Amino acid sequence: KTDETLLEVNNIEVIYNHVILVLKGVSLSVPKGGITALLGGNGAGKTTTLKAISGLLASERGEVTKGSIKYRGDAIQHTDPAETVKRGVVQVMEGRHCFEHLTIEENLLTGAYTRTDGKGATAADLEMVYDYFPRLRERRKSQAGYTSGGEQQMCAIGRALMSRPETILLDEPSMGLAPQLVEQIFSIVKSVNEKEGVSFLLAEQNTNVALRFAHYGYILESGRVVMDGPAAELRENPDVKEFYLGMS
Ligand code: ATP
Repeated sequence: KTDETLLEVNNIEVIYNHVILVLKGVSLSVPKGGITALLGGNGAGKTTTLKAISGLLASERGEVTKGSIKYRGDAIQHTDPAETVKRGVVQVMEGRHCFEHLTIEENLLTGAYTRTDGKGATAADLEMVYDYFPRLRERRKSQAGYTSGGEQQMCAIGRALMSRPETILLDEPSMGLAPQLVEQIFSIVKSVNEKEGVSFLLAEQNTNVALRFAHYGYILESGRVVMDGPAAELRENPDVKEFYLGMS
């Protein structure tokens, strides 16, 4: 890990449909090589924060109306998602979002579409993804729509890896999965972080598991950051224990 900051969200306000104020001044930063958790209950604004960063907000009639988002020092708050991917930031959306009619392997290959470094590099990265997710190698010829929720979550993360990102915005990877599978997916995220140096901003309602794998955490409540700190400190914080760790 280094002290280099990749992503800096500074006091952003987000409004949907010109009237619904959802983020009321959110600031956070993501260091290179870290796993940063964005925690909070249903509707706190986690997904909105990730979409503001990736640029996916615009397709939902959402807009960053105040503040700034900087990636490697460049303002990206009005950047479209394809351009953000080119900068090295890719979002894995909540609910997996694989192409149901494509096979697992075809899904993974769609993740490489922005790359210009040739077929050899893409083939090598496919192997890299299969090494992290042996289950995907076994299921590579299966139509994604017929695979399990866990396999689809792996496929969504694998597809993101295929763009060779520097930072992955990972939305609620634990959603709807059995505890053992959640553990497995978080372990893989951790090894991708350690071995590939990919940085993660991880939105999670499952505070318990997120704070065991993340280095640093931010807690959102009603569109505001109410607490932040190193994961180990948050885990020991009495308020976090009472209001968040008991729940999951
Ligand atoms: P969840 O875990 O349910 O995804 P979250 O913390 O990610 O929760 P958001 O999805 O960011 O929360 O939602 C924050 C608030 O914004 C909620 O009150 C939600 O109803 C509202 N919201 C989200 N998307 C839209 C939209 N497209 N139009 C209007 N309001 C929205």
